[in-house]
Amino acid sequence: MRAARLYGPADMRVEDVPQPGSPGPGQALLRVAAVGICGSDLHTYEDGRIGDTVLKSPLIIGHEFGGVIEAVGPDAIDGESRPLVVGTPVAVDPCQTCGHCRPCAEGHPNLCLHHRFCGLYPNDGALCQWMIVPARTCFSVPAGTDWGEVTLMETLGVAMHAVDLAKIRVADRVAVLGAGPVGLCIVQCARLAGASEVYVTDKLPWRLELAKKFGGVPLHIEKCDTTRAVLDATAGEGVDAVIEAAWAGPAVNQAAEMVRAGGRLTLVGIPGDDRLEMRHSLVRRKGLTIRVARRMKHVYPRVLRLYRGGRVDLQSLISHRFPLEQAATAMATNARYEPGVVKVVVDVA
Ligand SMILES: [Zn+2]
Ligand SMILES: [Zn+2]
Repeated sequence: MRAARLYGPADMRVEDVPQPGSPGPGQALLRVAAVGICGSDLHTYEDGRIGDTVLKSPLIIGHEFGGVIEAVGPDAIDGESRPLVVGTPVAVDPCQTCGHCRPCAEGHPNLCLHHRFCGLYPNDGALCQWMIVPARTCFSVPAGTDWGEVTLMETLGVAMHAVDLAKIRVADRVAVLGAGPVGLCIVQCARLAGASEVYVTDKLPWRLELAKKFGGVPLHIEKCDTTRAVLDATAGEGVDAVIEAAWAGPAVNQAAEMVRAGGRLTLVGIPGDDRLEMRHSLVRRKGLTIRVARRMKHVYPRVLRLYRGGRVDLQSLISHRFPLEQAATAMATNARYEPGVVKVVVDVA
């Protein structure tokens, strides 16, 4: 089968690799339809590593994906506890948890000590034609759904988990730092959760346009002092919650400056240099509650409810599409943040 493998920084090659075998108990064979490129993929693509995970041999990346079930093994039960049937179109949760360790048992599958994550070294991901996946990570999507939107279920799941952690209440004032695909999904979820105002910062004007479309108040980080703007808009008090969804660099301290005393800070972005810096006195005097988001919990059923109900706009986030044979161009286009880039999707089927 064809697969896009990353050999090292900015070196992606589409080539023939062995096809996966048949699904075992509890597994399914997925014919991949589309894969979304994520900011975390860009770290691996540009640096050959993300956090402390280093690429040591060619890897198929890609963890935002969906496709059609082509075969199932015995006892294939999907993520909503229903038998998984051949021919079903599904969105796939890329995190495969053990279900038995202490974090799993205590309701934190996103912190599983023995998880496998698709597309994170050493586990191959989705930029290929076929994959074997656990049936319980598959969630059926309506027939005829655009595959680009299916890849965004993972993005929406990450956003929903961040909003859960931020404990947004009706009429809260919120700031979202970073209007990438995750940030833009957070804006939509925060509004649905009842936030009255959502201030959104970024430097790419087309992303700020989308933030506005989703009910946010756009603030361009190079055209205004965004911290000042948020403080002025809240009569100097600061917002109730800030969700940082940029690259976790200077934005983290800025988040602490924008939030009110006693407020909540949720960190979603992953920094390229693996460091987290905040002014201690600022955080201490405000007595902030800081939560760090790690992927997501079992949120796909809620994600799909939002999606099926037509309550989120995912289509507007898809800016570019490339066929699998052009996966390297897709990565380069995203990494360069060419004008208009929001979500880049690779169509496999
Ligand atoms: Zn992702
Ligand atoms: Zn576990």
